[in-house]
Amino acid sequence: EIVTRFAPSPTGFLHIGGARTALFNWLYARGRGGKFLLRIEDTDRARYTPEATAAILQGLAWLGLDHDGEVVSQHEMAPRHAEVAHELLAKGAAFKCFATQDEIEAFRETARAEGKSTLYRSPWRNADTSTHPDAPFVIRIKAPDAGKTVIRDTVQGDVTIDNAQLDDMILLRSDGSPVYMLAVVVDDHDMGVTHVIRGDDHLNNAARQMMIYHGMGWNVPVWSHIPLIHGDDGKKLSKRHGALGAQEYQAMGYPAAGMRNYLARLGWSHGDDEFFSDEQAKEWFDIDAIRKSPAQFDLKKLENICGQHIAVADDAALRHEVEGYLAAARLPALSDAQSSGLERALYCLKERAKTLPELVEKGHFILTSRPIECDEKAAKNLDTVSRSILGELTPHLQDASWDKETLEEVLNGFAAARDTKFGKLAGPLRAALAGRAVTPSVFDMMLVLGRDETLARLTDAAT
Ligand code: GLU
Repeated sequence: EIVTRFAPSPTGFLHIGGARTALFNWLYARGRGGKFLLRIEDTDRARYTPEATAAILQGLAWLGLDHDGEVVSQHEMAPRHAEVAHELLAKGAAFKCFATQDEIEAFRETARAEGKSTLYRSPWRNADTSTHPDAPFVIRIKAPDAGKTVIRDTVQGDVTIDNAQLDDMILLRSDGSPVYMLAVVVDDHDMGVTHVIRGDDHLNNAARQMMIYHGMGWNVPVWSHIPLIHGDDGKKLSKRHGALGAQEYQAMGYPAAGMRNYLARLGWSHGDDEFFSDEQAKEWFDIDAIRKSPAQFDLKKLENICGQHIAVADDAALRHEVEGYLAAARLPALSDAQSSGLERALYCLKERAKTLPELVEKGHFILTSRPIECDEKAAKNLDTVSRSILGELTPHLQDASWDKETLEEVLNGFAAARDTKFGKLAGPLRAALAGRAVTPSVFDMMLVLGRDETLARLTDAAT
């Protein structure tokens, strides 16, 4: 069985790069009937905040990246990490190091002075410490004496590291607390993780983590170290390229499905397919097709893809998405009536909206209520002449059957009788019904509003 995981460090919010990493792991597991696990790497207690964990969970929930099983807190696994450090000790793969800070500093200074590597190889690595008197010690891994370590990576290929570049890294501090590098390996092993997709900033860690895998005789998971996301100028994505928090995109009104689709395309591709569903992504996603060169974040493309997702979205889901967007953007929530009105209107709104704020703007006519306030452009379409025309039109609608064909017939007939075109009526009608100059089609608005509300708005405008 395929088991993947997402292992964020809870230091702030869900970074857009982290969201992409989570998505890749999720797609890989979900497409293969595997499991996608979530582990919060809260080992560093100084940097840990519960709010950051909550923010990450929220971000994942918004993106619909559901995980299997309980959320694992790395910190809570500390006793198990210590147990493994002691097992490595018993196996002779690790050793107790009694070197003091001063001694280590002295070693580094000498090494520097002699132009040698400052990577620490402890003099205790081969010492018999069984009879050593009680004193503070750390447990260190015994770095290989010679040779090379090969990291098999599905994205980077085989990455070979000279073992001389590895130090006797600490596994367990003198207070008995595990270091991060040990925690990751033990947790991945214990959680049964078979595939790890993560940022290539962890590639250097991989060689060090391998020492622990070897020491324990554990299988190394299949590693895929993916290039970080870059901005449109080819530089590493940073604040100046735009928002970095995944949920900031929710607040800007990008729907989650579009976000998933767009993020999946950042560094992975399936032929020329740009727009696809979750089902397709799950079926198509494969680590072999992850690209080695960094992907560039492109807001225009994101918008484009989001527009396509809005157009095909299920109405109830889209309504829910709009509510989530308004909350994330700290905009007033919709009343029940507004929300269900919006849902009824969605069929005529979703075709041309690229983002949720655009959708909401197009849906203004159903969200607003009498008396309808006109914006500047709409107000210009409601001069005295137009008002009186609307007044004449109203009786014709009184008994008309309320369907598109009849309404078209009535309005076109009314225009023809006045020797004008329907187009001339559209501006005043848009103004009267929506208070806007740009709206969905007049007929759609009438249908969504219903006869009573339509007539009430027309009558308001006529007088
Ligand atoms: N906690 C690490 C991070 O947030 C990820 C570690 C890993 O994936 O192995 O960058």
